[in-house]
Amino acid sequence: MSSACCSHSPALKAHLKPALESGSTTPEPAHHGGGAATGDRADLLVVGRIVTGDPSTHTAEAMAVSGGAIIGIGTRADMDALVTPSTTTISPDGFVLPGLIDPHMHIWTSLLNLTWDELSHARYPKFDDVVAAIAAAARQAAPGTWVLGRNFDPSLYPGEPVLTRTALDQAAPDNPVLVMNASGHFFYANSAAFAAAGVTDDTPDPPGGVFGRSDGRLNGTIGEPPAMMVMLGPLPKPTPQDVAAGVNQILTAAARRGVTSVREAATGSIAGIGEYALLHQLNAAARLPVRVSTAQFSLAGGKTPSEAAADWAAAGVTPFSGDEMVRADAWKVITDGSNQGRSGYFLQPYLGEDTGGKADWTPEGLRDALRVGLDAGWQLMVHTNGDAAVEFALEAAEELLPGRSGADLRHRFEHVSFTTDDQLARMAAVGISPSFLMNHVYFWGAAFRDTILGPERADRLDRLNSAYAAGLTPSIHSDYNVTEIDPLHSARTAVQRKLQADGTVLNPAECVTPEQALAAITTHAAWQIHADDRGTLAVGKRADFAVASADPWSSDPDSWPDVEFHETYVDGTAAYQG
Ligand SMILES: [Zn+2]
Repeated sequence: MSSACCSHSPALKAHLKPALESGSTTPEPAHHGGGAATGDRADLLVVGRIVTGDPSTHTAEAMAVSGGAIIGIGTRADMDALVTPSTTTISPDGFVLPGLIDPHMHIWTSLLNLTWDELSHARYPKFDDVVAAIAAAARQAAPGTWVLGRNFDPSLYPGEPVLTRTALDQAAPDNPVLVMNASGHFFYANSAAFAAAGVTDDTPDPPGGVFGRSDGRLNGTIGEPPAMMVMLGPLPKPTPQDVAAGVNQILTAAARRGVTSVREAATGSIAGIGEYALLHQLNAAARLPVRVSTAQFSLAGGKTPSEAAADWAAAGVTPFSGDEMVRADAWKVITDGSNQGRSGYFLQPYLGEDTGGKADWTPEGLRDALRVGLDAGWQLMVHTNGDAAVEFALEAAEELLPGRSGADLRHRFEHVSFTTDDQLARMAAVGISPSFLMNHVYFWGAAFRDTILGPERADRLDRLNSAYAAGLTPSIHSDYNVTEIDPLHSARTAVQRKLQADGTVLNPAECVTPEQALAAITTHAAWQIHADDRGTLAVGKRADFAVASADPWSSDPDSWPDVEFHETYVDGTAAYQG
């Protein structure tokens, strides 16, 4: 996230929690696996243009699969000995690629506004078009029904106003309007929305929340969860059926971009263990289209890390438990907020401010939160956005990790958006790999450079090349729904570092090769989610593959976002068909 995982949760809890809690809280893995590989008899033969994802082999003509595992790959003749009369042969229409991996995305915090209108800068680069989109939605809606928008980011419209009550009244005179800021910290509302929520000019601010006022009159901005929850009150609450449909919609959208595995990066942040149990229930009802690795939220259920860890353990959710489709793998701790929301924690002040933000924990509190996860045997997954947050988390890690067993847990820092050379070297020394929200560069690079942090710090955004140079094993991720799940788009940004705003290149020294960018969405992402059996197509790996219109390993990175995916397979079984 930029910090959907923490900041959205309080406002969403009351709204979404009942639907998430409606099922059992006992995880019941379904074990859909295709059985054990026989080793010498293929139940599936894939013939065509196979791209292994391994630069040393690169392409193959055929791939033999048994029990969901690859038992042979090479020429068509090489496979003859593995094929029997009962082998099913498929010849996919396109290039067969290793399934792509998004190692940090969010299902649960994305559910609340999944059906809200997308008002992001990526969709509407001009402010006036945001207002026009709201007006158009209102014209199409019946009078009185809600017009809901998400991902509006005023930091990307320098010189423009925020969405005021007056402007929204003009755009939608007959409908309540509620728009969520991309940071998750603000709503913007019109008069009809305030009326529906029972909020007037005289309503006192709830503790910790603000109804923005100008000259004593509500101006349309609502800040922070206690006030945001008041605005959510009159909205219809999602049902369990809505949740099931939403999870499927999110994962299917990922599959549509060639993804076969994801890491859900804050499981339990709204409804505790019920979220993990629900994934198993949904997978039992119908196999999920994408494998889900979960990072258990260290404050799940609104508890302390020690209490949350005890709850996870009591429910049998231990490291690497679950099944081949839904597996519990990590321990998530968040140390700061969102850089574009100016709540990331920096060593130097934000432009135009006298503060660089603050950490979410005391040093002792952070060490305790990390230690609890380590003691339970979890891989650490630590959200660090600003350079001071990286420093803060590194100091804790340097105290806790040396000498501790479990070095193979592949601990991670998330986003790691702004780093120094010293910090990258120390991450390598202590055994922590970074996962970068690479599309920060594309969508927010100009805002960081021009209005939020200044050019020197902006150059230090998402230092993938320096991470490789430091000997780290980096990945890149979407942080969905902060950005869309589209690994090839993120990988193109890693190669080009072009800014959406003006097409310039942000610090070309951090550009990586196409092979390095693709490794960050395949093999390295697999390594980071403890999926060594995925990431390439090779003997012994799972038959997780996507059928694509082009081979990214041999095509111009500029064209990667245009690659279309017709099908995906998980364990050699069709998972998505477009
Ligand atoms: Zn996140």
